[in-house]
Amino acid sequence: MRRDPYAILAARIVREMQDSPEKINMWGKTWKGTGCMGLKIVMLGAPGAGKGTQAVRMAQEMGVPHISTGDIFRKNLREGTDLGKQVQEYLNSGGLVPDSLTCDIVADRLQESDCANGYILDGFPRSVPQAEMLTEFLAKHGGKIDVAVNVDVPDEVIVDRLSARRSNPETGEVYNLKFNPPPPEIADKLIQRDDDKPETVQERLRTYHETTEPIIDYYRTLGVLVDVPGADAGPDEIYRRIMDVLPK
Ligand code: AMP
Repeated sequence: MRRDPYAILAARIVREMQDSPEKINMWGKTWKGTGCMGLKIVMLGAPGAGKGTQAVRMAQEMGVPHISTGDIFRKNLREGTDLGKQVQEYLNSGGLVPDSLTCDIVADRLQESDCANGYILDGFPRSVPQAEMLTEFLAKHGGKIDVAVNVDVPDEVIVDRLSARRSNPETGEVYNLKFNPPPPEIADKLIQRDDDKPETVQERLRTYHETTEPIIDYYRTLGVLVDVPGADAGPDEIYRRIMDVLPK
């Protein structure tokens, strides 16, 4: 009797993962794994807490997409799309894009095929209604958020960090003049995001405390929250802390 080729492949993946959860050898290639594959992760923390930097690295190491609503909005703004025009005013003022618009965009993104094996959400959800909509959306598709990582950094440190943040307008890559300086050859073309200017930073922090911080308790109640101190160490150490607390 012929065996179903997908069953053979699935059995092989399970075997590979049991033998070596760090690396999977398949189709002549070594796929990086972290032992945390398939997780749906939400990154929480104030703007500038470093959750974006960590989310990018986690996504690379786990081989899953990094989904940043801020990046999606900024890309549309740069490209002058209809969505870009709709969100411009909110981004420039440091306020939040309306929940329904944001949730529609995320729901579309999460239905793309690359999200089937987990993802890292960065900057979403940002309000309790968004978190509730996400829970409902995932439940409809038979899933749930596995872990919410709260990168905890006090406001004084945030203000200090954001005022030194610069980004490359061509690639979107982010640097920090104090903690992660850019290579000298690109230093000239870096810009400060409008929303990293001091008055907007204060507004973003106010919005964070009022609207976004209550999500921490939302995920704590669901039993999936992990807190990671994010002010007293560099990005590598924070990354190690996150990896240590992710469910294996
Ligand atoms: P970020 O890069 O995550 O700091 O996002 C930049 C800006 O995009 C925010 O200040 C908001 O104006 C908007 N934004 C990003 N994510 C969301 C979200 N989940 N809900 C509403 N607005 C958002």
